[in-house]
Amino acid sequence: MSSSRRLVVVLGEGIAIGLFIGGVLGWWEVWLNSDLTHRMYWLATQRLAGPMVPGAGWGALASATLALLLGELARRGRRPLWIGIVCLEHLWIAALAALAFPFRDTALLLHRFSTYGLTRTVFGSIAAASFLLLTGRSLDALNRAWNSGDLDITDAEARGRASAGGITGRRFAGFLRAWGALRRLRFVIAVLALASAGLLLILWVLLPRLSAVRASGRPSVILVSIDTLRADRLGALGSARPRTPLLDGIATEGMVFEQAMSAAPWTLPSHASLFASRLPFDQRRLWDYNHEVPLRQTLLAEWFREAGYRTAAFTGGGYVSSRCGFGQGFEIYEDHDELIEGGPETIAAAALAWVRAVGRAPYFLFVHTYEPHYPYLHADFANPADAGRLPRVVSPKEVDAIHRGELILSEAERRYVTDLYDGDVAHADRVIGGFLQTLTRQGILDRALVVVLSDHGEELWDREPAYSPDHGHSLYQELVHVPLVVRWPGRVPAGSRIRKPVSLIDLAPTLLALTGLPGDPAHQGRSLARTMQTGEEPPPRSILAEAIEYGPDRFMIREGDLKVVLTPYPNRFNLVPIPAHTLEVFDLAADPLERHDLSAHLTKPVAEMVDVLWRRARGVLSGAVRQDDQGPPLPEDLLQQLRSLGYLH
Ligand SMILES: [Zn+2]
Repeated sequence: MSSSRRLVVVLGEGIAIGLFIGGVLGWWEVWLNSDLTHRMYWLATQRLAGPMVPGAGWGALASATLALLLGELARRGRRPLWIGIVCLEHLWIAALAALAFPFRDTALLLHRFSTYGLTRTVFGSIAAASFLLLTGRSLDALNRAWNSGDLDITDAEARGRASAGGITGRRFAGFLRAWGALRRLRFVIAVLALASAGLLLILWVLLPRLSAVRASGRPSVILVSIDTLRADRLGALGSARPRTPLLDGIATEGMVFEQAMSAAPWTLPSHASLFASRLPFDQRRLWDYNHEVPLRQTLLAEWFREAGYRTAAFTGGGYVSSRCGFGQGFEIYEDHDELIEGGPETIAAAALAWVRAVGRAPYFLFVHTYEPHYPYLHADFANPADAGRLPRVVSPKEVDAIHRGELILSEAERRYVTDLYDGDVAHADRVIGGFLQTLTRQGILDRALVVVLSDHGEELWDREPAYSPDHGHSLYQELVHVPLVVRWPGRVPAGSRIRKPVSLIDLAPTLLALTGLPGDPAHQGRSLARTMQTGEEPPPRSILAEAIEYGPDRFMIREGDLKVVLTPYPNRFNLVPIPAHTLEVFDLAADPLERHDLSAHLTKPVAEMVDVLWRRARGVLSGAVRQDDQGPPLPEDLLQQLRSLGYLH
């Protein structure tokens, strides 16, 4: 075999193996995301091509390296070659063992979303393919050592050479001869693999351009989530203290939703509901720190990418990281650590660089920061004399001590913590508001639809001293009332305000409608496109929230200014007990701070709302609550009251 043909075989076989492994990984992603069921063919092509092209490159490199290494050993003799092969096989086994267990979640990220059977199949395929490559290169080298260097030895030669080595050598030479006889087939496979890789490379280069053609004419969308930002901290929503001048500027140029509600009071289910436009418990029955967004449902970024948008996310990680399932549909999903990086500046800088690089192609950009989340770092508004026993910076250590009852804060200390929180809000405004201001100055923002929101608020001694500061444990306004601001010059009327309550699950269908993309039948939210384009109030609709992080499970419904919170099993809690009333009713117009529970006298509309919540709670919890654990479903007087109004029969 000529050296050029040998090179084609070495590279081509490596490429074939690389394409196969890349294809298996790509197919795994397509399968887990149900792309074909959801008819996301364009996205599926991108998911497949994504790992296959680099796979081909790595395969060629691995094959060439093995060929060089083993060829050199073969030149030195059979003994060094055998030692080399045995060492390589041990290395291969060690690498597989490392992959299979200790680094499984790092190397095979999708394993978190996969069944064990499927992961094993994928892993087995990768193991078999890499073994094939190692074996092929080893046999070539052995053939060389045994037969002085060429694959295509003749029968006579093989017999002659083997006869000197006795029965074992004869058999082995026969085996090597059979391997050598495959040379034509191997050459053809190698040429086909090279051609396929070439075609795939062309497709890979063309895909972004074809995508840009598909998406051309559609507006870009920038979605900013400032984690843990209470609605009442925005100047645009009535705060007297000047914490957010830059975001207020964005608000005056666009639309402010005065009563936006998140679907959950903590990060993971709130963002999951935002991107899936589905209530938390309709996505999964349990939300905990080690859970993730089910991949089978389609997230907003996937619709944009399917339509040809460029997509990128720059986040503070944690519950919003790609590991939690939020990477779906994003070409780039960068999880930052703001504690290590010293703030959200790096996130803003990365997002800015990406937007500039994308140029005029339509894009969907998601930016997220944990800046107002503890640790509270910025003392803009804090008086050091208030700090008392607290350090200058309030970290999770102090927050934990408060939760455990080891640290009970004085009035001044509470004020100090609240002022630090406000300082963090101000810093989020400086960095994220500054990022948007830079985009405005460069004319980029005027070509995009911008949404700024938060996933939930923060309780700061509004009612529960043992769980302040924190979130996740209740469904009162300080946690579920969130900022929502939209800016789109020329399309969304500047300075407009919407009073009626809306939910963050309305956002995904709204953005699809505003960008002219088809709606997703799985979405539970409604499109607010008409409201955003005309400034008209949306029609009334019930708004729900649920999925607390700790304490007893609570369910919330809001209709206009009426709000009902149901805690069906106050004594059955996640992680820690928190005292709760079974039923609370508030009129937010008269009582925005939810101080006066109206549940003693249920009106018919309120009873209807309780009925809706009770059915939902029962549907959600029936599978999770053991029969003997349930106790009385609702207090008897409440049951009687509801029955007298015609409910709960
Ligand atoms: Zn959050």
